[in-house]
Amino acid sequence: MPAIATTNPATGETVKTFTAATDAEVDAAITRAADRFAEYRRTDFAQRARWMHAAADLLETEADEVAAMMTLEMGKTLVSAKAEALKCVKGFRYYADHSAELLADEPADAAKVNASRAFARYQPLGVVLAVMPWNFPLWQAVRFAAPALMAGNVGLLKHASNVPQTALYLADLLTRAGFPDGCFQTLLIPSGAVERVLRDPRVAAATLTGSEPAGRSVAAIAGDEVKHTVLELGGSDPFIVMPSADLESAVRTAVTARVQNNGQSCIAAKRFIVHTDVYDDFATKFVAQMSALRVGDPTDPDTDVGPLATEAGRDEVAQQVDAAVAAGAVVRCGGTRLERPGWFYPPTVITDITRDMAIFTEEVFGPVASVYRVADIDEAIAIANDSPFGLGSNAWTRDEAEISRFADEVEAGQVFINGMTVSYPELPFGGIKRSGYGRELSGHGIREFCNLKTVWVA
Ligand code: NAP
Repeated sequence: MPAIATTNPATGETVKTFTAATDAEVDAAITRAADRFAEYRRTDFAQRARWMHAAADLLETEADEVAAMMTLEMGKTLVSAKAEALKCVKGFRYYADHSAELLADEPADAAKVNASRAFARYQPLGVVLAVMPWNFPLWQAVRFAAPALMAGNVGLLKHASNVPQTALYLADLLTRAGFPDGCFQTLLIPSGAVERVLRDPRVAAATLTGSEPAGRSVAAIAGDEVKHTVLELGGSDPFIVMPSADLESAVRTAVTARVQNNGQSCIAAKRFIVHTDVYDDFATKFVAQMSALRVGDPTDPDTDVGPLATEAGRDEVAQQVDAAVAAGAVVRCGGTRLERPGWFYPPTVITDITRDMAIFTEEVFGPVASVYRVADIDEAIAIANDSPFGLGSNAWTRDEAEISRFADEVEAGQVFINGMTVSYPELPFGGIKRSGYGRELSGHGIREFCNLKTVWVA
């Protein structure tokens, strides 16, 4: 079980350790949350929105500081950490401005149900537990916190053990913004302590973003307790390139889509499925651009790819590549861990992958791209769908008939045509198959943690 600590992935040095909360401290936090919920649920949208705007304004002024903290804790480049902080500002403002309309009463046809009036009303569930990953340490937590709080719920955050400072910062930010004590608390606990929290009768529901084993465990406990869950798990997104695509743009975007966040994004493009007519051209350009990326100190503005967040994560990526090579796959660039302090792995491109190789089905959580050659759109869609995951997907084509087929036939929670998958507060985000269930963001995300109560008046 990982210690709760800040360890700089660029050097491997542990810079700060934290003591896990005791059971008594966790119980006190749940009591605070449950007591606060009784009052907080009666605040109106306008009041919640004022606090949320205050959080956005504070975060905007503190973005540089917060970015440095995220880079220190999990190694993303400072440039992308600052962008993440500012994205959170947008997320706060979106829910501050739109929650009242997203959760407005839904009128029904009263005459048809023998009523004088009938409608459905969204009401908060209560104390919601969020188990979150380190890869977007602020954004993952904010995209839970903003809708949950605006809906009138209160939140408990169990963040990944390697980002404790970011976890504490978020709770502190929301308190400074005005949210009353107990509305949003960070619990510094190991994963083994999650079950006790989830089984507490005062905790109403849970959301988890992370790996499949973690999701399965939390969902099983929640199922046993008959509590609602949302799961955002892994992905191995396809990135399909057809002959009519703007190839220069597709290659450039493919590189960004694979190495964003040092290759550790659930919606990173991971499997590049390229039509044979443009395969050689795509592969040559893609390998050249992946090889040219600068790997190094994430605080250096010229760095494209920093270290992986944890030693175990880096070792797993290395093992996956080694196993693929041993089974006959071909490494076109990268493919060997960098011998230097910290947990660096170079941008890597692999071809000649066959279905029997583990890498065909596994998610690779690092800057490693698998490239496949296909004869036509049928084969492209078949390979895209031959995956246990179904999170995001990308397809590049100028052909309207092909766009329509990709939109209809790719098994995924989202399909982005001629662009890379990105999360926006305005768009639903989530997956199917082993990528999880439920949706975050947009109106769908805020409604996940609401009781939709039917009201019927004779
Ligand atoms: P992880 O172990 O699932 O961690 C995610 C969160 O779940 C952390 O807060 C973790 O706490 C907690 N957790 C882990 N096991 C748990 C359990 N049995 N019960 C309750 N909570 C549990 O993910 P990871 O180790 O960071 O990464 C492993 C893999 O997960 C990656 O290779 C990738 O496939 C996937 N992943 C996906 C996303 C995504 O955004 N979809 C993000 C990160 C990782 P501790 O840190 O204390 O263990």
